[in-house]
Amino acid sequence: MFKFLEMFKKKQPYTIPTVKPTTIHKKDDKTQHDLFLTELENLLASSNLFKVQYIKKYLNLYKTYKPFTGKDHNLLSKQPYFLESLTDEAQQFKKNEIKSYAKNIILLANRRAYAKVTLNRFKEDNLFQEVSLIFPKNELICEKIIAQKRKYHNKTIPISKVPIFPVITCIKCPACHLGIMYKPYIKI
Ligand SMILES: [Zn+2]
Repeated sequence: MFKFLEMFKKKQPYTIPTVKPTTIHKKDDKTQHDLFLTELENLLASSNLFKVQYIKKYLNLYKTYKPFTGKDHNLLSKQPYFLESLTDEAQQFKKNEIKSYAKNIILLANRRAYAKVTLNRFKEDNLFQEVSLIFPKNELICEKIIAQKRKYHNKTIPISKVPIFPVITCIKCPACHLGIMYKPYIKI
């Protein structure tokens, strides 16, 4: 037992990775930020919740890159021009509802960017070629995602063919932004 522990102690300094992962993490974090902005612009436009002239304004709120910092999910609805920026269609919703949709847009953009970075990392590292998809519980996801779950849950898919979750149409869903987990699948 003690011998085993000693062995572990001795080995530890060699197994803790130092320089390389830091560089990779930095690169992935910046890539995730850039992808987030692309996703955000796309979501803001496709949501039909905001007047076109406000999309750039909202995008600019998130433009500055701060390494390893989470995004404020409520930045859109905090702006003094929030209500004014809403389309006629969006003004039909209750204030709380529209606020939560605005928050979901940020969560979806963030989560999609994260999924893309994760899958890119898998591809670049080239340690395995397939992933299995793990979905949240049915109570947390909408009909559309339950249908996707039926198709993909626990299935193994080549990394190059894997769909990106959460999908951009889940803006009004309470928890679809949780997305799914991409788990490395290694054939034995
Ligand atoms: Zn949904």
